[in-house]
Amino acid sequence: MPRILAPGEIEAFAERAIARIRLPGRAGPFAARAARLRALGADGAAGHTIGDYLRLMATVAEAQQSALPACDLPPPTPAQIAQAREHRMPIIHAASWPRAREWRDLAVHICGAVAAAADVPDSVRHVHQRLRALPPPQLESQADALLTARTDGIEAATAPFLMAALQVCWVALASRLQPADVAELEVPGLCPACGTLPVASIVRADERSQGHRYLHCPLCATEWHLVRVTCSQCQGTANIAYHTIAGGSDAIRAESCDQCHTYRKILYQEKDVGVEPVADDLASLALDLLMTEAGYHRGSGNPLLWQRP
Ligand code: FE
Ligand code: FE
Repeated sequence: MPRILAPGEIEAFAERAIARIRLPGRAGPFAARAARLRALGADGAAGHTIGDYLRLMATVAEAQQSALPACDLPPPTPAQIAQAREHRMPIIHAASWPRAREWRDLAVHICGAVAAAADVPDSVRHVHQRLRALPPPQLESQADALLTARTDGIEAATAPFLMAALQVCWVALASRLQPADVAELEVPGLCPACGTLPVASIVRADERSQGHRYLHCPLCATEWHLVRVTCSQCQGTANIAYHTIAGGSDAIRAESCDQCHTYRKILYQEKDVGVEPVADDLASLALDLLMTEAGYHRGSGNPLLWQRP
């Protein structure tokens, strides 16, 4: 006989029904990202003026995809997992996880693979030479700056390749975790696995997460659930508004908050099954211009685009 659920039971039921987090699989997000960047950067697609850059980043994502299977880093130990859970801290914390030195070789390798590809600008070959010549302490301090989202001292030309290598490492680590390993953080709004700010959010349309909205981590590709019509920056629920470019795709909108004057983009898989948070965020710079003109600031940057401050 059906019975009425008590409030605690309702929450427990909802918790089970909605996947709290979605960890990246061993296959990683890079193949889908590469395909999406290539589609968005194709000649004439949606009139993109940044098509060349999107195609270059598609080549980067393809190199990441090739490098991922060989990136076999030691996963967190049971003691590290227990400690992170106890303190409600991210396990593979971007700013403090002991980076394996292999990431530096990976950065040079990915950049070399991109430089060797067809139709890549000469400047990438120069970046490759530069990366090969940079001493390890300098690479490490660049990584520190990138992983803590500091803009000072970041070399805009090398940054996407360094970030590409760091993404491969963190996706490899996250793909070895189980959802139960990942604690709910004291600080909401950060990736529960690595503590990075989300790049954008996505309303999933697959069977597992139908209609639920997830924030997407630009570093480790973990996604975590956030109820819709909620600010991903301050968690406010009043004065949330949605903005689109006239005549643009209806699969992407900017979600703004008048409490903290921040915005992040939100993607709708039901409108376009191919949407991918990092790729679609990068390809929609016109929406960023619109939001800046409207007086909002971006919650956080895109890992493939670093501008000089
Ligand atoms: Fe993360
Ligand atoms: Fe807000």
